[in-house]
Amino acid sequence: MRENKPISCHLCKRELTKIAVGLNKKLLGRNIIFFFCMDCLAEYLDTTTDILLEKAEDFKAQGCTLFI
Ligand SMILES: [Zn+2]
Repeated sequence: MRENKPISCHLCKRELTKIAVGLNKKLLGRNIIFFFCMDCLAEYLDTTTDILLEKAEDFKAQGCTLFI
């Protein structure tokens, strides 16, 4: 069992939500070293947090285990 310590945003050090972690892995790849919070991820991907949340809902609807 791997230690389940909270992940912080690489840029602003804010603690990530489960959805944010899932989106990072889904959009940037499962082997990423750095994670971004919703705000920083949106900026990084040149999009908005609303669109990211919509994507998360889509992934969840598809049954993606990262979002359960
Ligand atoms: Zn951030």
